[in-house]
Amino acid sequence: MKILLANPRGFCAGVDRAIEIVERALALHGKPVYVRNEVVHNKFVVNDLKSKGAIFVKEINEVPDQQVVIFSAHGVSQMVRTQAQHIHATIYDATCPLVTKVHKEVARKQKQNHQVVLIGHKGHPEVEGTLGQSSEGRQVVLVEDGKDVAQLNIGTDDNISYTTQTTLSVDDTQHIISELKDRFPNIKAPKKDDICYATQNRQDAVKALMQSADVLLVLGSRNSSNSNRLREIADKMNIPAYLIDGADEIKQDWIKNANIVGVTAGASAPEVLVQEVVNYLYDHGADELQEVDGAQENVHFPVPEELR
Ligand code: SF4
Repeated sequence: MKILLANPRGFCAGVDRAIEIVERALALHGKPVYVRNEVVHNKFVVNDLKSKGAIFVKEINEVPDQQVVIFSAHGVSQMVRTQAQHIHATIYDATCPLVTKVHKEVARKQKQNHQVVLIGHKGHPEVEGTLGQSSEGRQVVLVEDGKDVAQLNIGTDDNISYTTQTTLSVDDTQHIISELKDRFPNIKAPKKDDICYATQNRQDAVKALMQSADVLLVLGSRNSSNSNRLREIADKMNIPAYLIDGADEIKQDWIKNANIVGVTAGASAPEVLVQEVVNYLYDHGADELQEVDGAQENVHFPVPEELR
């Protein structure tokens, strides 16, 4: 059995930065620090930070007054920012700069009196944060698929713009954008694609891998959007693919007939988990490993100045 490792895979610059912010805040202020939502969607990362003194909360009203509060990489609504200010929290914002770019875009378009349409998954924290950038006038409207586009109840005037969640399937999003353009021919695209470089590169890497792999293992938590999208690429090619939090979740049945096992990791899954999967595969019949060539990534986002 041969192991094919996707490249790039695993941590992106936004996740690296978010974890560093929590660790540096702990070093500066001591424990506990409160993190609103999972700082990144990965069980291993969250448990590690919990053991170091981070407390994860769903809402700001779970945080006592005058504590350290960190916003997750997915970003927050304006309302959450105001709530944190009201409890006199020391705030560190771990929102990925590429999500902040989307937030700023929404605010700018709304100032120009545009109706903004957001393509994304209902209930995902990033989507809630982006919807929560709506100014008092027009609300941002969410579409998840072509059916939502068909049912959109907005005028067909010139002032419509769309934006997207950063971690969507590049291919599915293209379809939804085409449908939006069919219904609203004057709709404006963002200046630069909102799907981030890390999502795009990891999806391209899996497509390359799936040219030869018989099965795909994706390291990533169930609630990680970009990890789910990686698994779906194999699904669409009718190749079995499994999303796992670690090597202990692998079932021997999945790999027993495979000659080539593809392995990748979502943007919030650490490399140590990939190495554990590789070790598992070596223990269960693998005798060769190949790293597939892919896009080079040199993106780095610095932490806020107060934490340097
Ligand atoms: S997946 Fe993309 S948008 Fe999300 S944290 Fe990473 S770089 Fe930022």
